[in-house]
Amino acid sequence: VIVGASLAGLRAAQTLRARGFDGQLTVVGDELHMPYDRPPLSKQLLAGRVRPADCALRLDDLEAEWVLGRRAIGLDLERRTVVCAGPVEYGFDGLILATGSSARPWRGVSLPARRNVFFLRTLDDSLALVDAIRTARKVVILGAGFIGCETASTLRGIGCNVELVDVAPYPMSPLGADVGAVCTELHAEHGVGLHLGVSVQAFEAHDDRIAGVRLTDGSQLPADLLLVAIGAEPNTRWLHGSGLTLDPGIVCDETCEAKGGPDVFCAGDVASFPSSFANGELVRVEHWTNAVEQALVAAGNLLALPDKRVAYDPVPSFWSDQYGIKIQSVGFPARADKHVLLEGDLADRKFVMGFISDGMLVGAVGFASPRRMLWFRRQIAERAMVEQVALQN
Ligand SMILES: Cc1cc2nc3c(=O)[nH]c(=O)nc-3n(C[C@H](O)[C@H](O)[C@H](O)COP(=O)(O)OP(=O)(O)OC[C@H]3O[C@@H](n4cnc5c(N)ncnc54)[C@H](O)[C@@H]3O)c2cc1C
Repeated sequence: VIVGASLAGLRAAQTLRARGFDGQLTVVGDELHMPYDRPPLSKQLLAGRVRPADCALRLDDLEAEWVLGRRAIGLDLERRTVVCAGPVEYGFDGLILATGSSARPWRGVSLPARRNVFFLRTLDDSLALVDAIRTARKVVILGAGFIGCETASTLRGIGCNVELVDVAPYPMSPLGADVGAVCTELHAEHGVGLHLGVSVQAFEAHDDRIAGVRLTDGSQLPADLLLVAIGAEPNTRWLHGSGLTLDPGIVCDETCEAKGGPDVFCAGDVASFPSSFANGELVRVEHWTNAVEQALVAAGNLLALPDKRVAYDPVPSFWSDQYGIKIQSVGFPARADKHVLLEGDLADRKFVMGFISDGMLVGAVGFASPRRMLWFRRQIAERAMVEQVALQN
């Protein structure tokens, strides 16, 4: 049984079949859609450049039973069953948990539930936004992380007025101050109103709509539409009391096997795994490449004998598209104690910034440098010292 019918769940299913598993395969998902890709939801789909069908992930001939629109509500490890609403139970010999994450709810000053408040995580969220921006002109986005920034870029591209608000002093703050300054300029140049280092003092509501946002610096932002984009949280609530260790992601060992759950493996946004690139600490990586790579290892290890299991210890990587620029990050920039420009020029918006801890390259952020990022990812994997990287470069 696989719980979570999205990227990691699908890749796990494909891996099981590719490695010769010919038993019964059931994939349970609470969305009504067959697996689809999320990156276009804040980019091409939102811009109206592709249709929902273009976001569908290729399924192959999996011979799986797809149980869609059904949420798993409990896991009984002793009886080896996943319990869904109904109740309906699915027994398993092996289980893969790939329930991903959800948009983090707003927990700041009181936000009245109104029909022009949006989050962006699912295909349905994105389609609801597409519908709303047909008439909304003034958009306020809370959160200048990568979803908030991408959405700002897409909405500017189709002529919306966008105000971007964050408590951090610059957008995409985990990428550091210098990259943050470049992002700030980029948004400002494209006409986004930036409100950084501030938070929300109050929301103003009229009838069934949020009409504006008052910030702690006294600014008043009129709003036709409010997008809350303040991060994501792992979908693990249904596992409370199951015996699995949650932190709040599902804690697993280096083989992706869940702590407390023999023959239970996890992959994707929901998994908390030890990383040697983070001094053995548990990390959760909420990016596309991780969902794909971890699903391969988790499914392979589920089929393997215990002494043949392989360790999952990747150098994380992600990309974001903003104003026609490909922004990429590899490794753990936020763990660095300093950063240094390795290539290019910030002013040209074509560069690679290296992130260093104790002289070792632990992260790199690239603007418009897609080919080079593969090389930098390898250097981080090989634990290269920054002088070495600079010499070879
Ligand atoms: C708008 C957007 C844009 C993105 N763009 C990029 C990008 O440009 N680059 C990048 O690297 N990453 C990007 N990402 C991140 C990337 O899409 C995710 O890392 C990836 O989708 C994770 O895959 P997953 O299968 O682990 O989880 P998810 O895709 O979250 O899927 C989990 C599935 O499990 C379902 N589920 C949850 N709980 C239950 C339950 N109890 N029972 C049954 N089903 C359940 C969920 O509804 C969902 O369908 C983006 C994400 C979003 C939202």
